[in-house]
Amino acid sequence: MKFGGTSVGDVAAFERVVHVVSSQAERRPVVVVSAMTKVTDALLAAFETAKKGDFALAIASLEPHFERHVEVARHFIAADGPNLFATELDLARGEISDLLLRTSRRSLPLSMLKDAIVSYGEQLSSRLLAEVLRSRGVRSRHFDSRRLIVTDDEFGSATPIMDETAELVRLEIVPATAAGEVPVMGGFIAGNRAGETTTLGRGGSDFSAAIVAAAIDAGELQIWTDVTGVMTCDPRICSDARTIPVLSYEEAAELAYFGAKVLHPKTIKPAVDHGIPVRVCNTFEPDAVGTMVVAESGEAPNKIKSIASKKGITILRITSARMLGSYGFMSAVFQVFDRYRTVIDVISTSEVSIALTLDSTASLEKIVEELSRLGDVEVEPNYAVICVVGEGLRASTGLASKIFSTISDVNIALVSHGASAVNLTFVVKEDVAANVIEKLHTRFFDQLSDRTIVN
Ligand code: ASP
Ligand code: MG
Repeated sequence: MKFGGTSVGDVAAFERVVHVVSSQAERRPVVVVSAMTKVTDALLAAFETAKKGDFALAIASLEPHFERHVEVARHFIAADGPNLFATELDLARGEISDLLLRTSRRSLPLSMLKDAIVSYGEQLSSRLLAEVLRSRGVRSRHFDSRRLIVTDDEFGSATPIMDETAELVRLEIVPATAAGEVPVMGGFIAGNRAGETTTLGRGGSDFSAAIVAAAIDAGELQIWTDVTGVMTCDPRICSDARTIPVLSYEEAAELAYFGAKVLHPKTIKPAVDHGIPVRVCNTFEPDAVGTMVVAESGEAPNKIKSIASKKGITILRITSARMLGSYGFMSAVFQVFDRYRTVIDVISTSEVSIALTLDSTASLEKIVEELSRLGDVEVEPNYAVICVVGEGLRASTGLASKIFSTISDVNIALVSHGASAVNLTFVVKEDVAANVIEKLHTRFFDQLSDRTIVN
């Protein structure tokens, strides 16, 4: 079970986690937890402040966040009994202060100090959660992820060394669960072979959880968050959007670009590779089934699982007569984007032109300038990408026609279909996007009851 930052944001959130963990105690859970919300950001900001030399301000800025931990501890842990967490917090304060001082004095490599500092978000949340669970009768035990997840030396986005990690995790965690204990560990944080603290990159707790799940061959990986799984479309656009019961890994990957907040497929890959189903659950609705992500899901009766979208898209069209029957043009175009580290999303080509979409226009001017040497360039802002996802989409006859006939009054600026078996993507003007999604959602989902979208 992985709990994200908002799932441990305050006293009420901790109560919900206690409920979820204790109600599944007989399934022998292992708990992986993120830092309390905003704590990672605060630690990073403190690091930057210390780097600029303002050590006092850096340490003071963290006090409100330490206080949030104290408040939770005070709520759960009896005042007259032992409070291991209070001792931990005092030690952590001293250590963080020392690390910030070193940062301002540059007395160790900064990338190393940064990871050491930011790791306290998960160090504290995991120790606190272990204490909280114990206070409610759950036999939890804290494990320091920095001793279990072994990574390379790439501070800030370290890569786990999987076999060593799996061995350590199995060695430590399995006996604990077998003895009826609930192991609690921080996500995101790890250690290199030298024992120095590393981190797996922002949002890395899901990854930690998937690594642990794979190592112990878990029956299921539960990602507990504050939404009810992955939806058939954005509920802010269609009020009748509903939770998708089962998604394949490939479908989830296509949707991630749009709904990246729910699930990053890259991060759950270790679990999926081991055939472990990944369930996205909502701490606010613990009894709802959520969305299950599995290696392969069947087709939905209507073929479509979800309609996702993204606004603020810019279309670039490059036209060059030189392209006719020659090679090397695409490569020349892509090299420009490569140089400016700009991600291309949708692409469509004809004999003499390429159309593509960007969602970052940070280097647009320079990109256009360079592309102009290759051909005529047009820039069209204010578009939205609409992505229809479903297993079997490419293979089903008549589906594209059904999709486009539903929105026959809308101008389609660009289409991409066939690259993925599970996705049809097209681009429309931003101001009609919501209307397009509503129409498609009504056409494809309205006649279906909640049950019939189950595979
Ligand atoms: N606390 C880390 C972050 O905010 C890791 C996580 O939440 O997954 O990026
Ligand atoms: Mg997070």
